[in-house]
Amino acid sequence: MSAPDPAPRGTPGPDPAAYDVVVVGAGILGLATARELLARDPGLRIAVVDQADAVAAHQTGHNSGVIHAGIYYAPGSLKARLCVDGARRMYAYCAERGIPTERVGKLVVALDASELPGLDELERRSRINGVTIERVGPGRLREIEPHAVGVAALHSPNTGIVDFATVARALAEDVRAAGGDVLLGREVTGVARRGALRELRTPAGPILTRGLIGCAGGWADRLAVADGGSPDPRIVPFRGAYLRLRPEATMLVRGLIYPVPDPELPFLGVHLTRHVSGDVLLGPTALLVGARDAYDVGRIRRRDLGSIVRWPGTWRIARHFWRTAASELATAVSRRAFVAGCARYVPELRTEDVADGWAGVRAQAVSRDGRLVDDFVFDERPGALHVRNAPSPAATSSLAIAAMIADRAAGSLDLAPAGAAPRS
Ligand SMILES: Cc1cc2nc3c(=O)[nH]c(=O)nc-3n(C[C@H](O)[C@H](O)[C@H](O)COP(=O)(O)OP(=O)(O)OC[C@H]3O[C@@H](n4cnc5c(N)ncnc54)[C@H](O)[C@@H]3O)c2cc1C
Repeated sequence: MSAPDPAPRGTPGPDPAAYDVVVVGAGILGLATARELLARDPGLRIAVVDQADAVAAHQTGHNSGVIHAGIYYAPGSLKARLCVDGARRMYAYCAERGIPTERVGKLVVALDASELPGLDELERRSRINGVTIERVGPGRLREIEPHAVGVAALHSPNTGIVDFATVARALAEDVRAAGGDVLLGREVTGVARRGALRELRTPAGPILTRGLIGCAGGWADRLAVADGGSPDPRIVPFRGAYLRLRPEATMLVRGLIYPVPDPELPFLGVHLTRHVSGDVLLGPTALLVGARDAYDVGRIRRRDLGSIVRWPGTWRIARHFWRTAASELATAVSRRAFVAGCARYVPELRTEDVADGWAGVRAQAVSRDGRLVDDFVFDERPGALHVRNAPSPAATSSLAIAAMIADRAAGSLDLAPAGAAPRS
């Protein structure tokens, strides 16, 4: 989608306080946040700015499209709370806007006894997180997914599917309808202070704002550092490639079939996912790559590569996860290995059943000391709030994250608190 650039209502002119808030990033988080702020205070002058020519150009438009129920996340974490609340809000918003969703349900499958403790832990977490879950044996598993195998599984009936890019486009419409600007094709290349204001540098000229909210996904660390923030954590891009089942093989998968994930990794493992379009995807892999937009696996950007290589945390995770990295590489280069991994769950699956898919690039924060940062991270200071880590399930959680950012913005950005009367 290439939206026209509307004449920005608050373009810096005689009034230097052109915008009350500029949100950098027209992915699902930035758009949901702008919409939420405008819903609370219709008088705010808000712009959402993105370097891409379309909304949802990066992670929001390149993911599995799963509305997660909240099974995996450590009780008490932001992910647990915001995913459960976000899923509820996402179903309600899509119903209100006529966006198709389907509660196709998910199975997390244990292939053998060694995976049962992992399944037990997910069951425990689900129950504490308030997620409806059913423990099933091989018989019930086959009733739900007739072509899948396993010794046991967790069934989550409320896990569903949606096209998050469609959601993002609807949110952008809402922002514009409420009087906000969505300015595309404008990369923010620097941030300078002008008294109490911030000046965002873009190739099309500066944008002045009282408050800045960074929802910059794969470039979140760069924006935060340009705004005077800490270099820790750094974004390290992990490419997730998908294959697609050929139409004659899509009957092998009814809903969503997931492995028991490695508890050390923030990724859920290669899964089989029905998409709202009717496609069935296999993936995503998780390969460390040399560009933050490495949709093509061979794409390397010198600045991105330098930032990965110079970060001590990268080397620590490389040393710790070298076995996982080697197996991810094998899957990335061999379609046979990729399909063989999925065929452990759906044995009828053959290499001939798959066609090329596409890829997304995860914005994964890595700390200086070599941790793959698991939970969502928000960095707040006067006049600014930066989302520093919002990997999966942030698309599911986006409307809940937006509400939380709007609550916090009331303090750090000096905006009206929730429920306050709109300014005249
Ligand atoms: C392979 C994959 C599978 C996933 N599966 C799921 C799933 O099934 N369910 C789920 O809930 N989540 C999933 N996720 C996670 C989910 O997609 C993301 O958490 C979510 O989309 C994050 O949204 P965002 O708005 O923060 O980031 P993005 O959508 O990446 O948007 C960030 C935007 O910021 C812009 N930007 C950055 N820097 C600048 C700058 N300096 N100037 C201007 N613009 C800038 C970028 O152009 C981009 O458009 C998946 C992610 C991937 C990659």
